[in-house]
Amino acid sequence: MEVLIIGAGIGGLTLGLMLNRAGIACRIFEAAPELKAVGVGINLLPHASRELCALGLEEALAKVAVITREYCFFNRFGQFIYS
Ligand SMILES: Cc1cc2nc3c(=O)[nH]c(=O)nc-3n(C[C@H](O)[C@H](O)[C@H](O)COP(=O)(O)OP(=O)(O)OC[C@H]3O[C@@H](n4cnc5c(N)ncnc54)[C@H](O)[C@@H]3O)c2cc1C
Repeated sequence: MEVLIIGAGIGGLTLGLMLNRAGIACRIFEAAPELKAVGVGINLLPHASRELCALGLEEALAKVAVITREYCFFNRFGQFIYS
């Protein structure tokens, strides 16, 4: 039995690592011909970071990540909502 994962985004790749860790074979299919950086950052929320850390990726993540200092929301007029 093999788990088929459709999509090699952060979700599919994380699932692949989790299954691998659990000893469950999987195969990941990706429609894009190549994976490449698009030059944008992604804000990893605590629940997502926790899963990556559980996979032993905390040190690697810390090397490339910018630790969140503050998280604020503003409306389209630039007025502060909450932080
Ligand atoms: C501009 C922008 C900014 C964002 N910023 C954040 C952020 O800061 N923090 C955050 O948590 N989220 C952010 N998101 C949402 C973010 O995209 C998702 O949280 C995250 O990428 C979802 O990961 P995923 O693996 O589920 O999907 P995706 O990253 O979309 O990956 C899905 C993959 O499946 C592939 N695929 C699709 N259909 C098929 C198929 N039929 N066969 C094979 N492969 C297929 C696609 O090519 C793609 O590579 C942002 C989204 C956008 C558009």
